[in-house]
Amino acid sequence: MTQPALDLVIAALERIREKSDRAPRASRTALARLQEAPVAASLREACTSPTGRRLQARDKADLLAAVRERVGACTKCAHLACSRTQTVFGVGNPDADLMFIGEAPGADEDQQGEPFVGRAGQLLTRILKAMNFAREDVYIANILKCRPDMPAGSFGNRPPTPTEMQTCRPYLVEQIDIIQPSVLVALGAVAVEGLLGTRAAMREMRGRWHTYNSIPLMITYHPAYLLRNQAPSEKRKVWEDMLQVMERLERPISKQQRNYFL
Ligand code: URA
Repeated sequence: MTQPALDLVIAALERIREKSDRAPRASRTALARLQEAPVAASLREACTSPTGRRLQARDKADLLAAVRERVGACTKCAHLACSRTQTVFGVGNPDADLMFIGEAPGADEDQQGEPFVGRAGQLLTRILKAMNFAREDVYIANILKCRPDMPAGSFGNRPPTPTEMQTCRPYLVEQIDIIQPSVLVALGAVAVEGLLGTRAAMREMRGRWHTYNSIPLMITYHPAYLLRNQAPSEKRKVWEDMLQVMERLERPISKQQRNYFL
């Protein structure tokens, strides 16, 4: 099926799901698969030149710019399109070896249009620095591209709903397909649920290698968790997860880096 025809089918099914009092005959998972399969296939084609060369950084930047434009105009979650200041697409090197996936923009990110710029983001930047990476070296994105709306006058953030995550996930899938990182890192349980559709305790999932679409995926705690729980033992756990990432990327690791938080 061609992409425009598929878009029509998906849009029609989504309308039935939202408006009809009868249950639609396509599950959310089936809808998500429908959306992903042809995109992934056409991207695979676009990502390889006729000589079999992998896509260059410049081409990846162009492809990402096209997705960013669609995200910027997205109104699939009408309530979020109304409440957001702007969408928060992603930041960093389009040709990154390492990609981090968070949950959703908070108030700071919504204001600045860049993921992980608030307190949790500043901690992520410090973790990256300790790994000898700058923010510009890696790519950082979220499951949701809009800040989850909050009741008027209330503070803080709310987690994305399963529907919001399902709706926004195809954009993240496209980002990963274009960037083709060697290693992915999911920050926190919501990122894991959004990416893999798996719900489990973080203590069981973190620190181990998983895979997303054949890409090695490390699961670790969200930096916001480390801000809430300042115990050195928790910092060490995240750091051990990052040491595994550095090893996988064959990055040099000094003795001092090995010993952080011990
Ligand atoms: N937390 C996230 O998960 N993402 C952000 O962009 C900021 C905070």
